[in-house]
This record gives sequence, C-alpha cells and structure tokens, in this order.
Amino acid sequence: MPTEQDGRATPQSVSIDLDDVPTGRRSFHVALVSGGMDSTVAAAVSQEVAPTIDVLAYLDTGTGLDANREYIEDLADALGAQLWTLRTHESYAEKVRENGYPGPSRHGMMYNFLKERQLGKLAKGRDDLVLWTGVRSHESERRMAHVEGVQEADRWTWVAPIHDWTKQDCREFLDERDLPENPLWDTLGRSGDCFCGCFGSREELIDLEAEGYEDHAEWLRNLDTETDDETTLWAWASLSEHQQRAARVDEDQMTLCSTCAVPDGGEAGGE
Ligand code: SF4
Repeated sequence: MPTEQDGRATPQSVSIDLDDVPTGRRSFHVALVSGGMDSTVAAAVSQEVAPTIDVLAYLDTGTGLDANREYIEDLADALGAQLWTLRTHESYAEKVRENGYPGPSRHGMMYNFLKERQLGKLAKGRDDLVLWTGVRSHESERRMAHVEGVQEADRWTWVAPIHDWTKQDCREFLDERDLPENPLWDTLGRSGDCFCGCFGSREELIDLEAEGYEDHAEWLRNLDTETDDETTLWAWASLSEHQQRAARVDEDQMTLCSTCAVPDGGEAGGE
C-alpha cells in the first residue's frame, strides 16, 4: 500500500530501486499512457519519483476510440506534461484486407506494427531510453512472479513504478491527486486505445455499440478482407482453454497488452 510524504508518492511508497534507473545526461524518460487507469496512475507517480519525465507518449494504433485519445490529451494537460502521439503509419484495415482478421497466433505481428515499431523509432539514436509503464504484478499470477520494478530490455529500460500496487491503491491515488478519469473505464471497462482483436471477442463490439460507439463497431466489423478465412475473426473468446494456453506471448507484449486477455504464457486470463 503506498504511503505518502508531503502529499506526494515517495521512493518509500514506490518499491523500485531508483539506483537501477538510468539517469545520465543522455537518458530520455518517457511515461507511456494508454488511457487505462494503471498507466494514468503510473504516469503521475513517475512524475513524482523519476529524476525527470521528458514526455508522456501515447501509442496510437489507429484502431482506438477518439474519446480515449481526447482523455489522454486532458490527462497530459492535467499533469502539465508534453504529450507525444506515436501513431503507427501502417493500416490495420490494410492488414485485415491482406490477411484476414487476426487471431491469437498473429498477436506478435500485430503487436509489432501497432506498438513495438513506434518504440523502436523512439529508441533510435538514444543511448538510454527509459519507458515508465503502469504494469502491475497483481494483474495476474504469472506477473506476480515475473514483474520487476526495473527491467533491462535490448533497446530500453522498462520501469514499473506501481508494479506491486493493487487496484485499490491505484483508485486511492487517483482520488487523492484528483486526476481526471477516463469515462470509458466505467462504460467499456477498459481504455479503448486499441482493438487489434487478437484476443477480442464479438461481445466487445456489442459493448461498443451499447455505449454509443456504433460507428467504431461497424468499422471493425465490416473491414474488407480478401481472404475468406473467418476462423480467426475476433475468435479469442471462442477458443478452448487449451487453445488459449497455447497462444503464448513474450514479456514485452505482455507489458503493453496488459489490459487485454493476453495469456500469461500458459495461463489464460488477464485483467
Ligand atoms: S492485444 Fe489488446 S492491447 Fe495488445 S495490441 Fe491487441 S488490442 Fe491492443
């Protein structure tokens, strides 16, 4: 449970070793925001405990809701932070046209062009890119065992300042700081930043329609496709538990896809 000093999160309340976080003159610190509650809290916490947060960054997958992007803009204003939107230049619609709707087996490919490449470009020419995220170990049993506060990856360093916080901790922090909340948390139960569909279900489209986003649901449902293979169409919910366990993903994909039902490398589920 986070504690406070002078109304701010402290290194005592955030159990990461700040000595492990790159702080050199050429280090570049980015708080990744998706519109979800965890990344919102983590961005605010990061501003309080990081040596610096240079920018907030939103990975715009081109599949998310405008309402989510607008929330992130409001959040950046509330935090007094510069916001960079890293939008994929590749088209989800074009991928669907060429290959059909993706299922779990194509998550790696979708993750790569929707998110990973944007981070790769951000890392280019930078010695020490530090990515602050809202990943939490309480999201699942496997993360409980694997998530660390600071993790070195090939091209950057992941920092998860709220890795050991509970959902209740996040809610309390939000209230205490009076941070803006995304209306989508209550309506859709998620941020609405992307809809690759790899682990989606048709019910998500029905939820979108029920909450007034009929146009977005219709767009997702009616993308042209040159294949007649519909076996992967938003098929995650129709897979058996055994099939879900078979759809493993690596740690990076788990870090940035934590709000979808991405399997924990063998244990189906998620938030
Ligand atoms: S699995 Fe979820 S979070 Fe990851 S790219 Fe697909 S829709 Fe986005």
